[in-house]
Amino acid sequence: MSASFSIQDHNRTLPPQLDVPPRLLLGPGPSNVHPRVLSALSLPAVGHLDPYFLQVMDEIQGLLRYTWQTDNPLTLAVSGTGSAAMEATLANGVEPGDVVLVGVMGYFGHRLVDMASRYGADVRKLMKPWGEAFSLEELREGLETHRPAILALVHAETSTGVRQPLEGVGQLCRDYNCLLLVDTVTSLGGVPIFLDQWGVDLAYSCSQKGLGCPPGASPFTMSPRAVEKLENRSTPVKNWYLDMTLLTKYWGEQRVYHHTAPINMYYALREALQLVAEEGLKNRWQRHLDTAQLLWKGLEEMGLVCHVKEDYRLPTLTTVRVPEGVDAKAVAQTLMKEYNLEIGLGLGELAGKVWRVGLMGYNSRRENVVLLLEALKQVLG
Ligand SMILES: *Cc1c(COP(=O)(O)O)cnc(C)c1O
Repeated sequence: MSASFSIQDHNRTLPPQLDVPPRLLLGPGPSNVHPRVLSALSLPAVGHLDPYFLQVMDEIQGLLRYTWQTDNPLTLAVSGTGSAAMEATLANGVEPGDVVLVGVMGYFGHRLVDMASRYGADVRKLMKPWGEAFSLEELREGLETHRPAILALVHAETSTGVRQPLEGVGQLCRDYNCLLLVDTVTSLGGVPIFLDQWGVDLAYSCSQKGLGCPPGASPFTMSPRAVEKLENRSTPVKNWYLDMTLLTKYWGEQRVYHHTAPINMYYALREALQLVAEEGLKNRWQRHLDTAQLLWKGLEEMGLVCHVKEDYRLPTLTTVRVPEGVDAKAVAQTLMKEYNLEIGLGLGELAGKVWRVGLMGYNSRRENVVLLLEALKQVLG
């Protein structure tokens, strides 16, 4: 090395060692990580083509099929957060010029619109006020008017706390010869999902909400119908990193290098999915509902009002109306400062109007509800 180069001391004072505060994460995600998942993260790394790792990948695929209730061969984890898996459904599902009809009833519907338009879709929107869901008839009318190639819906709209009912939507999409794309980011592992029975063709999720895992490896799946469209594309997928025609060569029998999988994140996801399977979907869904109902009852007893009608209220994410004259942000800050407790603020149309309380995965437990209600009582006076 030339003597004219010298090392600059950019860190004049070294920061202290990491000293992470023990937060209870009861917001819209991330949620706290199950201890067994944390341990899995710290296991020794192996290579991304190591036979042991390939087996872990196969196990992730199998466990994901159970968790989603699908037989889709193309079921895998995308290296990235939920938004990467979201983008993967659009990058692989949309061909330029396709009409994509998006049901927008909150923040994440708008994100789908943005992403779909970046892949050259002719995007049409069905709109609903923030806090409501689409009826089957409204969706049928939308399909009749727009005749889309894809209908995209958010199953669990984290910005509003609404669960979009999906029974019957897949059949409608078949009648209108279009694919059904569904965001299950805040429903997977907490809310009943029957992907195949509902006729969903493209779906994605994340690791840090209902699965109780850190963010970074995100479930993705495509039905045989959607794969057929992918195989017959006239243009290549416009995103190299998320191109399923390449990724399936790594996840499938060929085992061709594509990118270095985030090894330890995949251990973590595998452990989180293993925990889902050990508990069983029926028990897990019931636990989420029981915990949420305890919260709803407690809020009501305090005179607080849930923003969403109970019929389509999400057990994983509750929006609570901020009472008149109360500073939503100040309350959240006090909960954080005095109780190490995180809850979320309203987004978009609901900014300043609601708090968002998440009870997801490992965090969906009675003691967390009791603690939150008590802390809220103290802070609200
Ligand atoms: C959190 C969330 C996403 C985005 O996931 P990230 O992991 O934050 O990238 C997408 N859709 C919904 C409904 C979400 O709640």
